[in-house]
Amino acid sequence: MLTPKSLLEYRSRLQSLLQKFEKARDSVSRDLTDSPNHPEESDAPDPSSTNSSDQRDHQPDQQVAVGSLLVEVHLADKIDAALQRLQNGQFGLCAQCGKAIDTNRLEIIPYARCCVDCERLEVPSI
Ligand SMILES: [Zn+2]
Repeated sequence: MLTPKSLLEYRSRLQSLLQKFEKARDSVSRDLTDSPNHPEESDAPDPSSTNSSDQRDHQPDQQVAVGSLLVEVHLADKIDAALQRLQNGQFGLCAQCGKAIDTNRLEIIPYARCCVDCERLEVPSI
């Protein structure tokens, strides 16, 4: 059973997670769109930019980094949805069957959308 206090804790956890992922989302969209007028341009220290003598091609690393960032952006959407469920009182309830999601599961994955049983059905293990 989720108490109002634990809901507040989940909310602050989700919000701090979301902030972290929104930074990742910002850096991805900055890379993809190459926006010239980004307001937060100066807050990310980039030591490699001063080291112009080393011009090795880091493309494989960059591809891995962007790939993991895209996973994080996907997570940010889940966290966003979880915060919305907190607002409308649906948090902690399975989106599939409507049963309460196990609190141990919410401890590990506070943005979980489904209970363990439905998640198992939704994502078949190979
Ligand atoms: Zn379910």
